[in-house]
Amino acid sequence: MTLLETRPTGTPVALRTGRRYTAADVAAMSESFEGCHPSEVIGWSVEEFGSRLSLSASFADTLLIDLATKVEPDIEVVFIDTGFHFAETLATARQAMSRYALNLTVLRPLPTAADVWAHGVDTCCGSRKVAPLERHLVANADAWLSGLRRSDSPERGDAPIVSLDLRGLVKINPMADWSSDDAERYILENDVLINPLAFEGYPSIGCWPCTEPADSSDPRSGRWSGSEKTECGLHA
Ligand code: SF4
Repeated sequence: MTLLETRPTGTPVALRTGRRYTAADVAAMSESFEGCHPSEVIGWSVEEFGSRLSLSASFADTLLIDLATKVEPDIEVVFIDTGFHFAETLATARQAMSRYALNLTVLRPLPTAADVWAHGVDTCCGSRKVAPLERHLVANADAWLSGLRRSDSPERGDAPIVSLDLRGLVKINPMADWSSDDAERYILENDVLINPLAFEGYPSIGCWPCTEPADSSDPRSGRWSGSEKTECGLHA
């Protein structure tokens, strides 16, 4: 659940740049972007937040990176190296570095971070994914871009294009209203890099201990398979 859903409209939110947004402002922005091409949303984001805008990448593909670097080649791309990525994901990140000359920031968990076997999936995700991103964004950003789409899963079916996250940061999902066909079309037309695991039955790719092959009709069903967990917590 996002703060957009829980915070009463009209409550001001202070950002570190001094800009102030209300939940109603953000909801109106989000609504106004419905049906716009993701490049337009990214263009607005770059203009609004400048160097205090980051892009969170998982390297399942470079779809959002391709879109964003065409608007702002120097945009900060953040990758959370949990220590449990597939070799294919790290290879895709290296390929992306070479293709796009990325301004890449790699975030790592603290040496004492929990692991999945001793501490379980929620604590592990919290200390290896959520905490590193949160530390970085709270210190360096006012807004961040994510590749989340409503077509990813039923749980993401109502995802707004613009929202306020639990940290008070503006979270922008430029491709929220893109269907899988829209994404595939863009990927083919722009020769977007794809993680090789996608061709081996992995439509959604996270850490190797928590990702299994899945049916493409339910792309995220291979994530934390057999548990109630459906999200790592980054998108709260
Ligand atoms: S996806 Fe699994 S291994 Fe990766 S951070 Fe979350 S619980 Fe840990």
